[in-house]
Amino acid sequence: MTPTAIHNADRATSDRTVTAASARQVTKAYGTEGTRVTALDAVDVDIPRGRFTVIMGPSGSGKSTLMHCLAGLDSVTSGRTWIGGTEITRLKDKHLTELRRDKIGFIFQAYNLLPTLNAMENITLPMDLAGRKPDERWLGQVVQAVGLGDRLQHRPTQLSGGQQQRVAIARALLSRPEIIFGDEPTGNLDARSGAEILAFLRSAVDELGQTVVLVTHDPAAACYADRVLFLADGSIADEMASPTTDAVLKRMLRFSGALSTSHGSLAKRARRGTTRA
Ligand code: ADP
Repeated sequence: MTPTAIHNADRATSDRTVTAASARQVTKAYGTEGTRVTALDAVDVDIPRGRFTVIMGPSGSGKSTLMHCLAGLDSVTSGRTWIGGTEITRLKDKHLTELRRDKIGFIFQAYNLLPTLNAMENITLPMDLAGRKPDERWLGQVVQAVGLGDRLQHRPTQLSGGQQQRVAIARALLSRPEIIFGDEPTGNLDARSGAEILAFLRSAVDELGQTVVLVTHDPAAACYADRVLFLADGSIADEMASPTTDAVLKRMLRFSGALSTSHGSLAKRARRGTTRA
């Protein structure tokens, strides 16, 4: 599929029942006049529900900014974003906070577990704080998927990095969020633990129907995804369905070559919709 086919800017063609998150003409600029940096430049994107999407691109290409804008962690300079059927660019602070709590799960490079609580208590903490009882069956499924067995009573310091990240993912899964966003969640892990985490996320998509979006530098992460979006210079420059590590690596090398030898010509061509697989 061509970039224009997926990133169709026409709102009427975007079906909110199959789309977990969307952006239309999203621009994000930092700074003022002399110091202005355009981190995102009129980005259109649809994140399909129940799929695993990876966002890649060179450092500074706008990956984290795109994720933050889609997740309502950062405001946009112009344009609109949606989580499911809710336009978040119209929400006031209180409603935005509620939507983030109820509809979005986050996983980061740092696991952000509470050291005084055991794994099980960390998993249920957000629901406990919200005064909600998790669905017992779902809790059972999530806990089984996390695969910690008798270590559920262990505290974070008694678990490996990979186990801690699995606890953080289970915590994100428990409220059945519309979407889970991850910013380099395997960044602190060795290759084997990182692969375990990616496989776990893949199974959350396949077996639990979860929607997952990851920002990563790692081409090896891409082969777990259904689709990779490539950002360059604040724009979606290309995308790849059913990615393999080799194909992603080649594409990334082409990007960095084109960007460094022709002053961003690839990004410019991409904006005109002329890049191809
Ligand atoms: P990536 O995640 O691809 O490395 P980012 O989204 O972090 O890229 O950054 C995109 C661009 O926006 C970069 O040029 C970066 O320096 C700039 N940027 C990001 N956050 C800020 C900020 N808070 N203030 C100023 N510039 C920023």
